[in-house]
Amino acid sequence: MADYQKMWQDLNMDVEAHDQLCEVLPMAFGDIYLSQENRPQGMDYFNLVVSEIHGLRPSELIEHQKKGGKVVGSFCIHVPDEVPMSAGAIATGLCSGSQFWVPGGEKVLPTATCPLIKASIGARLDRTCPFFRIADLFVGETTCDGKKKAWEILKDDAPMHIMDIPQMKRERDYAHWKEEILDYMKLMEELTSHKITKESMEKAIAIANEKRKALARLHGMRRHERLPISGKDVLLATQIAFYDDPQRFAQMTHALCDELDQRVQEGVSVFPAGTKRILLSGTPLSIPNWKIHHLIETSGGAVVGEEMCTGSRYFEGLVEEGANTLDEQVDHLVERYLGGIHCACFTPNTERIDDIVRLARDYQADGVIDLSLKFCTIYDSEGYSVEKALREQGIPVLGLETDYTDEDAGQLRTRIEAFLEMI
Ligand code: SF4
Ligand code: SF4
Repeated sequence: MADYQKMWQDLNMDVEAHDQLCEVLPMAFGDIYLSQENRPQGMDYFNLVVSEIHGLRPSELIEHQKKGGKVVGSFCIHVPDEVPMSAGAIATGLCSGSQFWVPGGEKVLPTATCPLIKASIGARLDRTCPFFRIADLFVGETTCDGKKKAWEILKDDAPMHIMDIPQMKRERDYAHWKEEILDYMKLMEELTSHKITKESMEKAIAIANEKRKALARLHGMRRHERLPISGKDVLLATQIAFYDDPQRFAQMTHALCDELDQRVQEGVSVFPAGTKRILLSGTPLSIPNWKIHHLIETSGGAVVGEEMCTGSRYFEGLVEEGANTLDEQVDHLVERYLGGIHCACFTPNTERIDDIVRLARDYQADGVIDLSLKFCTIYDSEGYSVEKALREQGIPVLGLETDYTDEDAGQLRTRIEAFLEMI
């Protein structure tokens, strides 16, 4: 890795604690990723990005700030990246997927909080993630109770804006979400001193859609009987999509897909014949959370899809293009970012169950693993309906709950192996 020590010091990071993370991450990446055989060459780009994750992209964000630009971080796929982008700001993801940050979150949050929230708060308060130091504004949302309370703590340490996401999808809820997006646009104009115009929004929508199309193409490679890429590698690229420059990301993902097309033509597969195909559904897997994919793909299975925010929920459904006015564009954002995302924070949420069944059939999954991060009440509770619907459809399903530690890895492996054997 290049030397970014000075940059981290200038960001007022706890460099000593951060060094510990820099020591363990490459080891985990080597064990989980570089040990795979016959990886596509196009993954080299994503390997590079992850190996320099706290250096390469952060230095680009700082360059943008030096030129007067702003950086806006968000934690949820309901927050439209197109808004900061249309005001000339850079949007970046802020979710954290490592146990490294969890104890920092536990200093201020109950232990019985999901690890994703604890890690995000810990990354900021412990000053061990450059993205959490760089962002000029943090945008939270009211999706789940844990997050709502976490933002109240975070706001004492970082500039925050909260978007109030409706819990239902009635006409009045769409009207409310439109108000929220309009407020966010106004705030963004104030922050950047840039007016959002129909043209700037059109460009932002097109860029975000291109990223979605590239991801859809990549994920679609797993519809093939012979899988040209592992689920782990697709997950990695998807996680990087939240941080990388969107245009470069789309370009590099298409380059990877060109190589995968070739593999498909030649019948190349990274898994032996008879490998069981698994669709994962549930809570998001933020970088560097690779635990479940690794367990499945080293137990005789292959992950062929993720009905997750780090999966289909992130890229399925484009924002409609070709609007005549800025107001119409906002309506299209509302449609995509409220109607098009089927998170367990909504009630009723039957569309999510329809999605899981559709994806399981589409990707010819032999079974579904419905995953919930520990203490995520909404996904854990919805697991009942998910499992019931899948059983009714004759699709084998296994419900799992886990966190970011490795303590349950042995037990999870046993359950996954038994499930793969049974299906
Ligand atoms: S699971 Fe729900 S709350 Fe969490 S990132 Fe996805 S949409 Fe947002
Ligand atoms: S995983 Fe569940 S509890 Fe955690 S932030 Fe997402 S919705 Fe909230």
